[in-house]
Amino acid sequence: MSEVEMSVVVREELERKEILKRYKSLLRSIRHELTNEQKKTIRAAFDLALDAHKDMRRKTGEPYIYHPIAVAKIAAQEIGLGTTSIVCGLIHDVVEDSDYTIQDIKRKFGEKTAKIVDGLTKIKEVFDHTDSMQAENFRKMLLTLSDDVRVILVKLCDRLHNMRTLESMGRKNQLKIASETLFLYAPLAHRLGLYNVKSELEDLSIKYTQREAYKEISHKLNAKKAARDRYIRKFIEPIKKKLDEANIKYTIKGRPKSIYSILKKMNQQDIPFEQVFDLFAIRIIVDSLAEKEKSDCWTAYSIVTDIYKPNPSRTRDWITTPKSNGYESLHTTVMGNDGKWVEVQIRTERMDELAEKGYAAHWKYKDSKEGIENEAQAGVDGWLARIKDILDNPSSNALEFLDDFKLQLIHEEIFVFTPNGDLKKLPKGASTLDFAFEIHTQVGSKCIGAKVNNRLVPLSHTLANGDQVEILTSEKQHPRDEWLQYVVTGKAIARIRNYLRESKREAADKGKELLKKRFHKEKIEFVEDNIQKLVRYFKVQSSLDLFYSVAKELISADKLQISNILNKKIATAAAPIKVVTAPNTSNKKNEIVVGDEYDLPYSLAKCCNPIPGDDIFGFITIGEGVKIHRTSCPNAVSLMSNYGYRIIKSQWKNTMVKTESRFLAGVKIIGIDDVGIVSSLSEIISKNMGVNMKAITIESHEGTFEGMISVFVEDTKHLDDLIANIKQKHPMMDVFRMELKA
Ligand code: MN
Repeated sequence: MSEVEMSVVVREELERKEILKRYKSLLRSIRHELTNEQKKTIRAAFDLALDAHKDMRRKTGEPYIYHPIAVAKIAAQEIGLGTTSIVCGLIHDVVEDSDYTIQDIKRKFGEKTAKIVDGLTKIKEVFDHTDSMQAENFRKMLLTLSDDVRVILVKLCDRLHNMRTLESMGRKNQLKIASETLFLYAPLAHRLGLYNVKSELEDLSIKYTQREAYKEISHKLNAKKAARDRYIRKFIEPIKKKLDEANIKYTIKGRPKSIYSILKKMNQQDIPFEQVFDLFAIRIIVDSLAEKEKSDCWTAYSIVTDIYKPNPSRTRDWITTPKSNGYESLHTTVMGNDGKWVEVQIRTERMDELAEKGYAAHWKYKDSKEGIENEAQAGVDGWLARIKDILDNPSSNALEFLDDFKLQLIHEEIFVFTPNGDLKKLPKGASTLDFAFEIHTQVGSKCIGAKVNNRLVPLSHTLANGDQVEILTSEKQHPRDEWLQYVVTGKAIARIRNYLRESKREAADKGKELLKKRFHKEKIEFVEDNIQKLVRYFKVQSSLDLFYSVAKELISADKLQISNILNKKIATAAAPIKVVTAPNTSNKKNEIVVGDEYDLPYSLAKCCNPIPGDDIFGFITIGEGVKIHRTSCPNAVSLMSNYGYRIIKSQWKNTMVKTESRFLAGVKIIGIDDVGIVSSLSEIISKNMGVNMKAITIESHEGTFEGMISVFVEDTKHLDDLIANIKQKHPMMDVFRMELKA
């Protein structure tokens, strides 16, 4: 054997050992007792995966089998799923990547496993190997989900492992996968109650989409860790003492907020890291008997709030009325020492396990039996029923659907009562009209208003927690366009759109007849080709819109000279996407490499004003060339996940020569009011730094001021220097980069 051959043999031997080691660690992570039968099944799945992936490697160069083992381990250890899901985790990529078929899986592992693997393969087909609209794919994914929720759970494990190993992917794929994760998978994990998975997915996503912000926050969190730990220790000391005196068994966990939630708060409230006050939360987990859960939690609550003053507007009782995904907990925010807010969560061990692992916690030890026990699935079933409700509406298109779905995900809930005292859950912001549709489509369609707590209100009225609502209807009423502005629930939106679409179609049929007559009169063939020419001429969306416009006399059929229009040469407006040269607004020589091209025209997006040094991507627009956005742009996530195929990798040219170009950026300054502030700032900026200001606005209120300055800088370093300079002269001020509001 040659030396090279030897080293290959040695490496393969080492890898074989490592594979076995990882497999054994998977087995150890399964926390329920396995029967011999189950042990055999898991081993068979491992052997099958090993054979199917034997010649494959991951992007990291590691053997491919590491991935399915890791996915199965996440399923077992982090979500607490049972044998079927572990088996599916192990073989989830087999059908996709080898000659084994679903039939083979069915023969070896039975019908149920085969169905789940089939679902996973289908998601993979639509998700990972096409560049088409993500929303449509998502809809397909949810359709397969209605068969077995474990398809989604295993898919989430798969995605979590891919996110953990995203480092080895190319930049373009990193952006695409990370955005998609933030847009679809994290909300999905949230909806299923998988809080740990959700926040890890979110943090990993912004690690790639907003690299700078991520680094900064994690750096600052680490820097302050010792001080924070000390603070928390001091904070919980008196609580512990009182809990012990009350004879309550408990554990207390202190934990920093996730990087994602901190960043979200910074963006939403326009504040720098230093001003995010409740950076940490503590969780008190009481060891409680089933019948004493509620009273034990409230005892702990009163102990905490005896010591620290609570903020009454931030107390949430999810124990009396759990969230619809099953979450139970008591939350409050209290004022700790030194005026710092600390979030306190109180729950029992059972609630904690449920919160961390979601519904899957219910299934533990159960999914080895045939089927899933009913009570465990009740919550998920309610959720699935709502989704099916929307899916069953065949005319709703995918993007609308996704919006509806996301609406249902992000809204917090309120609870309102029917006149009989029945409780209904609705998303926050829901109107009387939403409530009406929640009761019945017929009630919604005929709704003219309502009595809320015995007071007459319009159908657009926003409901509040605890309202009692009586809907008023009229036979003459029917849904109208503007109703869409009054509702937030997926159900109401779908029903109203459906009605409007139907009535539009009826009107369009009449318009079509009118138009047809006109065609006959001019002796022109009424064929698709000619109709499409009119569609383009009138710049309407579709033939349906054309017919509708004729019916509504927006286009007068009588005055129409069809032959004139058809003889004109009409420019096609909506050809397949094509890069159209746009004026380069920076009108300097190109600083950005778009794709692999050095001279592709581009312009800088106004929504986020990238400057050299920022992480950027290109987005191919229709008619305006390539627009360059920052990856932290507020629009980035939705652009990248919905139009992944229009993203083009872009980067700043790495030139040693300083360019002449200057780029617009915003700087926000917050401080104590001071008369000379404007002149002092402009002195630093213009005189000392030689930076041109475009605008400066200062607003002061109650002794503090907020300033926004737009400046022309060379790159991120230049901007950082400028900010450092201002900070140095005014150490008491908060100075940071801020998006310019377009
Ligand atoms: Mn996979």
